Amino acid sequence: MARYTSAVCRLCRREGQKLFLKGDRCYNGKCSVEARAYAPGQHGQGRGRKLSEYGLQHREKQKARRFYGISEKQMRRYFTMATKMQGVTGENLLQLLEMRLDNVAYRMGLAMSRPEARQLVNHSHFTVNGRKVNIPSYQVKPGDVVALKEKSRQSDKFKSIVEANSARPVPHWMEKDSNGFEAKIVQFPAREDIDLPVEEHLIVELYSK
Ligand code: SF4
Repeated sequence: MARYTSAVCRLCRREGQKLFLKGDRCYNGKCSVEARAYAPGQHGQGRGRKLSEYGLQHREKQKARRFYGISEKQMRRYFTMATKMQGVTGENLLQLLEMRLDNVAYRMGLAMSRPEARQLVNHSHFTVNGRKVNIPSYQVKPGDVVALKEKSRQSDKFKSIVEANSARPVPHWMEKDSNGFEAKIVQFPAREDIDLPVEEHLIVELYSK
């Protein structure tokens, strides 16, 4: 899959919001959105254009894609899946994105950012129900137990990640064990559990055209 490999802070600046793609830097006062609150590029500081209806829908979709680090093709696939589920399509879409294994690992506090979580899953550091899973898009479901592999728990890297994230709140939809290396998914996340600042109905309108 083609991945964006340039400076990720530009993505946040383009969306005008913190998307937390950099780990430490997002929290330590060096955030580019805070320092330069305008879009990147030569015309980034120009007068803000009023976006068309399509423009608004497109921006919301891009924001969600960038937040979770997924391609346009994957986003469309998630949308199709969301339309086939019961309930509100926009919320279903966010729920599917939130239940990706890389996002779950990030929410558990076992990575400093979603891009890092994706890499750590790829490198086979995680298990689901005791079995190794190295697919970042793997869909976790209620009842599943996501854990860091025993061997990885001894590494200084994970010890420091857990320590750095110790104050990060644990989502309602998972129960973490006392050492922070394992979590049981107890329910699907509700919309209020998902802190993505996006108007998902605009994404649904875009893809429904
Ligand atoms: Fe985005 Fe983090 Fe960079 Fe700030 S530091 S612009 S939140 S990636």
